[in-house]
Amino acid sequence: MSIWQDSNKVGFCSTIHDGTEWIVRKRKKPKSSSTLATITKQPFATFNLSSQCKESYEHTRLLPIPSMTDDYNHYMGGVDIADQLRAGFSTQQRGLKPWRALFYWLLDTSTINAFRMFEHQRKARLGLKKDKARSMHRAFCESLVIGLLLEPPKPGGPTAYITQNTLLPRIRLTRPIEIHQFRQASTRTLCYFCRWSRHSKIKSGITTKVITKSRNPYKTKIVCSHCSVALCNKCFYPFHYYKD
Ligand SMILES: [Zn+2]
Ligand SMILES: [Zn+2]
Repeated sequence: MSIWQDSNKVGFCSTIHDGTEWIVRKRKKPKSSSTLATITKQPFATFNLSSQCKESYEHTRLLPIPSMTDDYNHYMGGVDIADQLRAGFSTQQRGLKPWRALFYWLLDTSTINAFRMFEHQRKARLGLKKDKARSMHRAFCESLVIGLLLEPPKPGGPTAYITQNTLLPRIRLTRPIEIHQFRQASTRTLCYFCRWSRHSKIKSGITTKVITKSRNPYKTKIVCSHCSVALCNKCFYPFHYYKD
């Protein structure tokens, strides 16, 4: 983070600059009518001893500026797109704690960056086809909110995706074992451990031998109260004692 005195103070926050890189650029002297002219015209002063009576300034001068500022000037295309997008759907809330404003600013920035990348990919997929979408920014923000409000999928829920590399949830090893109680679910779902052992049979022959002779996972109404994982009668204890 850094603050740069341009014609006004400008705050920067960057993840790709370390604040020590400078670049020399031709700069214009700010107008004498500008608010902070007394400060900002100083770098343009000429050092001419003969003209002691009158201050004189150069119109332009080569000056070092932080590359953060330079990159901003070059890649924002004159209009700050991020500020424009931020104005549309800002999360800023009125409050007294100063760090909160920074938090909301960072939240907005991450959202906008994600949106820009999403748009980049979406437009690349469109190719030469006409873009019919309207107000993609609103649609993106809305689906983000809905996505965040959804309950996260439980580790061992019926829809939990299992592959050969899926590890059993560590929560199952919480002791004492009495914490793990049979709970009745309202619907019947496939046993998580049956499904897991079917996929991981390459890893160990033990699981398939111990757990189920049949290759088909059992449907069960039992859920472990602690792990929130659907387990059939046969798998309930092997699941909690299995060491992978
Ligand atoms: Zn099972
Ligand atoms: Zn459990």
